[in-house]
Amino acid sequence: MKLDHIYRQIIFDHYRQKRNFTELLGENVFKVHYKNPTCGDVMTLYLEVKHDIVNKVAFLGEGCSISMASSSMMTELIQNKTLGEILSLRNAFEELIRTGELTDPNIDLGDSYSLQGVHHLKARHNCALMPWQALDKALKEIVE
Ligand code: ZN
Repeated sequence: MKLDHIYRQIIFDHYRQKRNFTELLGENVFKVHYKNPTCGDVMTLYLEVKHDIVNKVAFLGEGCSISMASSSMMTELIQNKTLGEILSLRNAFEELIRTGELTDPNIDLGDSYSLQGVHHLKARHNCALMPWQALDKALKEIVE
């Protein structure tokens, strides 16, 4: 079985059965809306950060399979991580999408690594990066 075939299965699995696809409520929940200007994908990201750790994360949205799978994967990846760890993951994931490679081989991107092939599809980079851009926006507002 070819590696890309396995990757495609992981992507479709997340697209069909989105993880953490729900609204989060609570006074400590922070929410941001984000729209991908190039593809029309939209999402709302919900985050609860406690003592520098992402305690809860969820999303709602609609869009292409890449954007939705990437969002689902990201919510699994950042759960229970510190903001510092999340920043490293975010930078590594962007590098993977932009260049197809990872400088630091020890970084574990979990299922998000399966989006590596998007590197070849320049017009879809923003789809894969959408949840991470939403996260940037949220963290900027949370930290301020
Ligand atoms: Zn898209």
